[in-house]
Amino acid sequence: MIVGILREPNHDKRVSLLPEQAKSLIKNNTRVLAEAGAGAAAFAADEAYVASGVAIASRDEILQQSDLILAIQPLTANDLTKLKSGTVVIGVYQPLFTAPLMQDWARAQLTTFSLDMIPRTTRAQSMDVLSSQANIAGYRAVLLAATLYPRYFPMFMTAAGSITPARVLVLGAGVAGLQAVATARRLGAVVEVSDTRPAVKEEVMSLGAKFIEVEGAADASGAGGYAVEQSEEYKRRQQQRLAESVAKSDIIITTAQIPGKKAPLLITEAMLDSMRAGSVIIDLAASTGGNVAGTQNDTTVYHKGICIVGNSSLASDMPSDASKLYGKNVLNFMQLIMDKEGNLLLNFEDDIVKGSCVTHNGAVVHDRVLGLL
Ligand code: NAD
Repeated sequence: MIVGILREPNHDKRVSLLPEQAKSLIKNNTRVLAEAGAGAAAFAADEAYVASGVAIASRDEILQQSDLILAIQPLTANDLTKLKSGTVVIGVYQPLFTAPLMQDWARAQLTTFSLDMIPRTTRAQSMDVLSSQANIAGYRAVLLAATLYPRYFPMFMTAAGSITPARVLVLGAGVAGLQAVATARRLGAVVEVSDTRPAVKEEVMSLGAKFIEVEGAADASGAGGYAVEQSEEYKRRQQQRLAESVAKSDIIITTAQIPGKKAPLLITEAMLDSMRAGSVIIDLAASTGGNVAGTQNDTTVYHKGICIVGNSSLASDMPSDASKLYGKNVLNFMQLIMDKEGNLLLNFEDDIVKGSCVTHNGAVVHDRVLGLL
């Protein structure tokens, strides 16, 4: 089996597998190729790959020779023309938002595994790229906000006067949100949190933050740990309650997402108007529409002196650790689809294999993606 590691497009500094991780893959029957410069932005030089036994090759050579390709971001249309039939690709392709692209990949005879579709079960935790990358994004979001914010985070009482602590509001207490809470608390901020899942209240409180209670959230117990869409009545009540907290906040980190759906709009323009100039909002849901009125993906905009950063790929700004954790997720996943001799072994009875496979044998095979075509 030949495994190929592609260089990601310029906007993503990560790499699917670091040199020391590739080493563990190289066995009698498995060769690993890496595109020249694949790890450069993540501080993994070509020489380090070579020292680990990986051969450096051109993109075309990798596409033409590999049986299994690792590429976090989608392949290009040009890439598809060069692949062997039946090539396996592993990455993060958001198929619930890219169903037509997945259909093209099926026609190109790719077997696609999209790791963002892995079920959120205990057994799948070691392969859960959404968690490993969201954890970094939540941490980076707070650090970014702290540098953009023109005031202190912690409280200070000095001979030159007193500084009150920053007030941070975190919307969505999933993996990214909880890490944002922990990081903001470490920096000395006073933190409030809102989430539609009441189950997170205890976790929020154990991190020293206040949970904003809104009655009547829709039951999400059947949604595998994810949020579900809320009723109009709940949304109205949530907005009312949030408006009070938004007006008092200096920093807001938004992370609220619903799988396969546009992100809920939680902060309206009127709410923005109530914030003081110099406040900072980091919208981690920007790529799916954003939680804030006026958010633009991959762009920073200003609303009456409030800085709104739309960025859903903050993990890429910490490429070394992001790649390390992503690569470990990938290695764990590959153990599920390869036998000890390095041969591909796809067991569609396995819920993780089935749940993450989007295209196979010339067809889109994932029910939720099929439902979108
Ligand atoms: P996510 O990125 O899909 O969403 C972020 C958060 O936004 C969620 O907590 C969600 O409830 C919240 N949200 C959605 N709509 C909202 C709204 N209108 N207002 C306020 N908040 C809203 O979530 P995620 O971080 O990927 O994971 C969510 C949860 O899944 C985790 O907290 C965890 O409980 C579970 N999980 C389980 C596993 C596992 O067992 N393997 C792995 C990862 C996550």
